[in-house]
Amino acid sequence: MRLTIKLTLAITAAIVVVMVGLAGVAYHLLDDVMIADMVQDDWLIGRAMAAAEEQNWEDATKAQQLLAEINQHAPNLEVRLVNLRAKPNDSTFPTLALGDLATFHDDETSRHLAVQQGGYLYLYVPLHVDPTGTTALELRESLADRDVYRHTTLLTLAGTAVLMTLLSMLAAFGVGTRLIGRPIPALVNFAAAIGAGETDRRIVLRQRDEIGVLANAMNTMAEQIANAKTQLVAEAMARVSMVEQLRHADRLKTVGTLASGLAHEIGTPLNVIGGRAKWLLNDFPDDPRVQESARIIDEQASRINRLIRQVLDFARRHPSEKGPTEVRQLLTQAEHLLTSFATKGSATLKIIAPDAPLFAWVNRDQITQVLTNLIMNAVQAMPHGGRIQIGARPLRVTPPLDLGGSIGDYIEIAVEDEGVGIDPLQLQRIFEPFFTTKDVGLGTGLGLSIAYSILRENDGWFVVTSVLGQGSRFAFFVPATPTPRSSHL
Ligand code: ADP
Repeated sequence: MRLTIKLTLAITAAIVVVMVGLAGVAYHLLDDVMIADMVQDDWLIGRAMAAAEEQNWEDATKAQQLLAEINQHAPNLEVRLVNLRAKPNDSTFPTLALGDLATFHDDETSRHLAVQQGGYLYLYVPLHVDPTGTTALELRESLADRDVYRHTTLLTLAGTAVLMTLLSMLAAFGVGTRLIGRPIPALVNFAAAIGAGETDRRIVLRQRDEIGVLANAMNTMAEQIANAKTQLVAEAMARVSMVEQLRHADRLKTVGTLASGLAHEIGTPLNVIGGRAKWLLNDFPDDPRVQESARIIDEQASRINRLIRQVLDFARRHPSEKGPTEVRQLLTQAEHLLTSFATKGSATLKIIAPDAPLFAWVNRDQITQVLTNLIMNAVQAMPHGGRIQIGARPLRVTPPLDLGGSIGDYIEIAVEDEGVGIDPLQLQRIFEPFFTTKDVGLGTGLGLSIAYSILRENDGWFVVTSVLGQGSRFAFFVPATPTPRSSHL
């Protein structure tokens, strides 16, 4: 608002200066014109009278009569005969001591002298009645009317100037408020809001002047800030997720190393226990109590052995042989392998994949292991049976940042069940080594950790979605490869 007031005051000051100047000039011009007009009128009267006096000069009475008549009919005007040479006490002595009257000549008929003095206009018109040229008519007109008119004009001019100044002030203030006073605080508030992080705010100004252009530029700026912010947040999230994944991979590696060391340590005494159990079985065939105990020891030792093998498998990190692998055949093979296991759990397996061959660049045995593990988990997640869909399809997707992060061709393989689903809190932990919700003897918690490591080795990754009580979908992506001439089928 301060800017509007300053602008209004500046415009008003300029208008006042112009108006006062104009009024002054007009006033003086008017004054000059009025005086010139009076002189002109008086001179015409004077000349006419001079002509009449000159004609009747010889008849002094007539000449005096003429003067008396004109003085009677023109109340503002007084005409006298004057002589320049007259003594101060003479009746023809001029009111003004004007030596210039002496310069009147016969041939200069339009010659006159006009002087303003003491509220009167004096006009001297020479009379061509004596050779010395010292006789003249003195016309004296009051300036009172002129003064009244001048005063009225001055008041009118001043009133007009004040009115115009007030109107200009009002107009300048109104326009200034609309174009500057209101939009500038709105722009300031808008800039403050953007600064405070409200980047989705926009300003709407209808004016098309520089302030309107500024508002549009600020809107564009807000949009760019919002985009940059979204991009920054996305990048930060991607970084956090990458760090999480790296940490997870690192944890897997540490756990794997620890577990394999432990497995080696346990392996030797376990072999001794198993050997001794077998020895007892052979040496005491007739003692049922020894037989029973030795059998249990042997069974449990074998179970621990199996577990150790799994742990060693998980920890083993030799580079896997990859090649073009036909995915549909891989699914069919897994289906054959697991149909009887699924049937026992009242589950059915169904493959959904395109007829055309799909080739992935992976280690066939490792991916079969992942698939087998997912199908077994799906069967176990449906205690009352249900349908398991095994699907495959080609997709163009962006992998996680630690796998390059740039879009590419991949094959998605998904195992979808109608099982118990996974609690969101547990969903974050299912890939952790030894995380299991299954009863002792049923789960080791290593299946998904191994599957995770295998996928990383094959440049793939998991995407798991699950709804508690409705089922889960375990999808993984592996790099697609163009159809080869001969493949590892
Ligand atoms: P395990 O099967 O030996 O428990 P996994 O690593 O294969 O080990 O699985 C870890 C856990 O993930 C399981 O104990 C289970 O809680 C959960 N899980 C895996 N697959 C499914 C599934 N299809 N439905 C529900 N939960 C599952």
